Amino acid sequence: MKALVYHGPGEKSLDERPIPELTAPTDAIVKVARTTICGTDLHILKGDVPTCEPGRILGHEGVGVVHQVGEAVSGLAAGDHVLISCITSCGRCDYCRRGMYSHCTTGGWILGNRIDGTQAEYVRIPHAQSSLYRIPAGLDEEALVMLSDILPTGFECGVLNGKVQPGCTVAIVGAGPIGLAALLTAQFYSPAQIIMIDPDANRLEVAHRFGATACIDNARADAVAQVLKLTESVGADCVIEAVGIAPTFELCQQLVAPGGTIANIGVHGVKCDLHLEKLWDRNIAITTRLVDTVSTPMLMKTVKAGRIDPTRLITHRFRLDDILSAYETFSRASSTRALKVLIEAS
Ligand SMILES: [Zn+2]
Ligand SMILES: [Zn+2]
Repeated sequence: MKALVYHGPGEKSLDERPIPELTAPTDAIVKVARTTICGTDLHILKGDVPTCEPGRILGHEGVGVVHQVGEAVSGLAAGDHVLISCITSCGRCDYCRRGMYSHCTTGGWILGNRIDGTQAEYVRIPHAQSSLYRIPAGLDEEALVMLSDILPTGFECGVLNGKVQPGCTVAIVGAGPIGLAALLTAQFYSPAQIIMIDPDANRLEVAHRFGATACIDNARADAVAQVLKLTESVGADCVIEAVGIAPTFELCQQLVAPGGTIANIGVHGVKCDLHLEKLWDRNIAITTRLVDTVSTPMLMKTVKAGRIDPTRLITHRFRLDDILSAYETFSRASSTRALKVLIEAS
């Protein structure tokens, strides 16, 4: 089969690899139908993720059809259409029992990291019973590719951790796919304002179409002054960091209102300053989280009911044969205007 393989920092290629086989009775082999590329894959290619070793097939998102199941897997059979969660969970360890699948002692984020991932024709999924979701007939499978990672990430790490409430003010720093996923899912709660902040005019225009009430280009305007102006000088109740660099995390600290929450989603590679000299008396909370994907079944229902349309995030389509062009397009997002690139694997 064809697979996109990481060969060390800056090195990747589309290689021929054997079709994976079951290695445990709890495994399933899935024939991948659609997959995509995540910002995290670019982090791996930069060499930021040491757990991902050369030789690894990348990718942790996708939908497909069950090809084979181990004898301990119940409730799934060959031919079932499934959504692949970016988080593998055994469903039985202490963390899984607490709904913290991201820290599963034999799972977590392993796909396309510690084990081979979804940017291939087939993928082996450990703990298949709790890591795959059967797709009900009639659901748009392309939309569901957005539910492997980015929608639950924006929702759980941003909206839920940020305690978005009816009537509150939300500021989202970063209008990439994850920031936009937070923007889409924040609207479940009817906040009074959702302010998007990003230096890319195209992404802000998309954010405006997706329901942002105000968009601030922080390459040209002072985001702090603008947010204070929009919030009667108090700041935002919920500030979501969806970039993952020190300046944006520090900006969040300047935007948060007394009693508010900074919900970090960004993957940070270097340390950031925490301005406790300014924040110590402001009753704020700062949260961090790796997505648990506990909200996936709920998000599937909202997609089925037409409450959200994640296909709006898909800007480009490629065949698996052209995945190197897909990477090229996705990594030059400011010139190609790429959000999510959809890859057809079969
Ligand atoms: Zn991802
Ligand atoms: Zn577990």
